[in-house]
Amino acid sequence: GVFETLVDTRTHLEIAGLTKRFGNFTALQSIDLSIEEGEFVCFLGPSGCGKTTLLRAIAGLALQSEGRIVQRGQDISALPPQDRDFGIVFQSYALFPNLTVFNNVAYGLRNRREDRHRVRERVEELLALVDLSGSEGKYPAALSGGQQQRVAVARALATEPALLLLDEPLSALDARVRVHLRGQIKALQHRLGVTTIMVTHDQEEALTMADRIVVMNQGVIEQVGTPAEIYHHPASAFVAEFIGQMNFLDVKADDEAAVHLGRRRLENIPHTCAAGESARISIRPESVELTHDTSGMSARVEDVEFLGPFLRVSLTLQDDGQGLMADVPVRDAQSLALVAGQRVGVHLPGDALRVYPCR
Ligand code: ATP
Repeated sequence: GVFETLVDTRTHLEIAGLTKRFGNFTALQSIDLSIEEGEFVCFLGPSGCGKTTLLRAIAGLALQSEGRIVQRGQDISALPPQDRDFGIVFQSYALFPNLTVFNNVAYGLRNRREDRHRVRERVEELLALVDLSGSEGKYPAALSGGQQQRVAVARALATEPALLLLDEPLSALDARVRVHLRGQIKALQHRLGVTTIMVTHDQEEALTMADRIVVMNQGVIEQVGTPAEIYHHPASAFVAEFIGQMNFLDVKADDEAAVHLGRRRLENIPHTCAAGESARISIRPESVELTHDTSGMSARVEDVEFLGPFLRVSLTLQDDGQGLMADVPVRDAQSLALVAGQRVGVHLPGDALRVYPCR
């Protein structure tokens, strides 16, 4: 109909029903995903979840078994990589070792038979963007890992692709360089406004860099959301466990808005389980509140770890012996005198609890 012919100008990439099989193994199972113009999206998930395969399908480096990929209204599903509009950076730098930095960055431009002055101008501009002006004549071997990745980013952006694909670009670098480069890449992406997809297994990387995170598990998307949505409102137990620290406690469903934790009844927790069914609840360590008052729910302090701005307190619930972690800001901890063996009151705020239904 007429509406299908209208192109949504805000959508950069539309993936529909994308399935990828290797023999009889299904690496991606009917993926639907829409990416907006200018967005920075991270594919996040454990090893083998399919995130690299999805990126490679978008690039045309691996052909999907089923499904469609549409970029800016054009169906690119069957196009070979060289006819698709993207730049890519891989984990291992993959610069041409026998070419200087200048020639590495100029490579794609020369392939397009760009004018010599235009090539020089563009390469200088890109090297300035990645903070490597003055390194034109160096060979990749003379650069640090972080510098090589910056050259790789400049090279990927040289032909002004509409889409930047980053395949674990930071994971081969040491921790300090990695954190620094995160900020640089994010700032560059923001400045250029280029739609960007980055594959990572590092949740901190995804949380700090992405506008939206696509959490993947065993070939399917578990959740798509902003870092805050993913962190505060995980859609599944998998996401809750994969992102950040999380406590899980076994409970038994009571009536429709209460559960039993040991002998204790927790109210105002809506759930869909039948009365008497087993379920799990989750709560972040920073949401667990400890008090002097041990007349309600209480726990025994097993261990206290100093983690700078807060203490991580390992507890055993008095009622039923389940373990629980609480992160307590140092200033609050002083008045509680937290030491192993101590008994403390525990409050689990209802709005910080989530229930995962019984299967
Ligand atoms: P990692 O972080 O380890 O790279 P990933 O999430 O990127 O993991 P993929 O590389 O996309 O995972 O692989 C997804 C699944 O598909 C894995 O089980 C992998 O073994 C399988 N797979 C990937 N490429 C091939 C291939 N060419 N032939 C057969 N199986 C493959």
